Amino acid sequence: MSEPSIFTRILRGEIPSEIIAETENVFAIRDIAPQAPVHLLVIPKTEQYRNVVELAAGAPAILAEMVALANTLAAEHTGGDFRLVFNTGAEAGQTVFHVHAHVLGGGLPEGTLGD
Ligand code: 5GP
Repeated sequence: MSEPSIFTRILRGEIPSEIIAETENVFAIRDIAPQAPVHLLVIPKTEQYRNVVELAAGAPAILAEMVALANTLAAEHTGGDFRLVFNTGAEAGQTVFHVHAHVLGGGLPEGTLGD
């Protein structure tokens, strides 16, 4: 077996990070290096899926659960609107190969997609 991912270690309590929300298959933490006033990570409890493409193919219900939790958190933290980002592949900036969604909001930086 390969080493557990950093997110699995956080879920197990081996690395400190407050779990700010959790559902049956998904949990959420604050990003350690925020890129926006609100920057949360929504993560499946399983690390079986490396990216959103694998997750969508293998467990679409968990992907839907991630989107629902992102929406709930955005209602609490950003006033409702949010950007959901899945970096997919190292060339696209993915550094942790345990699928996760970035939930960004609360005044996004200029010069990003959609401005
Ligand atoms: P990626 O670059 O793979 O799309 O996103 C990984 C994210 O995980 C990065 O935004 C990074 O700041 C965050 N991250 C990495 N290590 C930790 C950690 O130990 N704690 C928390 N809360 N976030 C982390």
